[in-house]
Amino acid sequence: MTDTREDPGGSPADCLFCRIAAGSVPADRVHEDDLVVAFRDIAPRAPTHILLIPRRHIASAAELTEDDGPLLGRLFGVAADLARSQGIADGGYRLVSNVGRWGGQTVDHLHVHLMGGRAFRWPPG
Ligand code: 5GP
Ligand code: ZN
Repeated sequence: MTDTREDPGGSPADCLFCRIAAGSVPADRVHEDDLVVAFRDIAPRAPTHILLIPRRHIASAAELTEDDGPLLGRLFGVAADLARSQGIADGGYRLVSNVGRWGGQTVDHLHVHLMGGRAFRWPPG
C-alpha cells in the first residue's frame, strides 16, 4: 500500500517506530495500550531509558494540536506510572522530546524519552 500524502516526517510504512508499535520490529516493551507504546531505548543513555510513543504516526511534537490532549494525558500518565514502577520516581527523572535536527531528533515519530537512575545536567548538551 502506498501512502500518497505529503509527509515530510516520513510515511508510516517506512517509519521505524510505527513498525515497533505494530510489532513488526521487535522491542523490549514495558507498556502498551490503545494509544501509547513504551519500550526500552536500544542505546540507553541512563540506567533507565524508555521511549514512549503514540501508536498513531505523528512526526514530532511540532505536529501536535489541542485535539491530541487525551493522547498526551495518557502518554504523560503512563510515563509517571512507569517512573514509579521502574523505581526512578523518588530520585527524580527527565522527560524530553527532541524536535528537528538541531533539537537532536533522529527518529521522525513523536517520542518522549523517560530517563532516570542518575543525575542530569541543565541545560542538556
Ligand atoms: P531521538 O534522537 O530522535 O530523540 O531519539 C531516538 C531514540 O531512538 C534514540 O535514543 C535511539 O537510541 C533510539 N532508537 C533508534 N533505533 C531504535 C530501535 O530500533 N529500537 C529501539 N528500542 N530504540 C531505537
Ligand atoms: Zn511512525
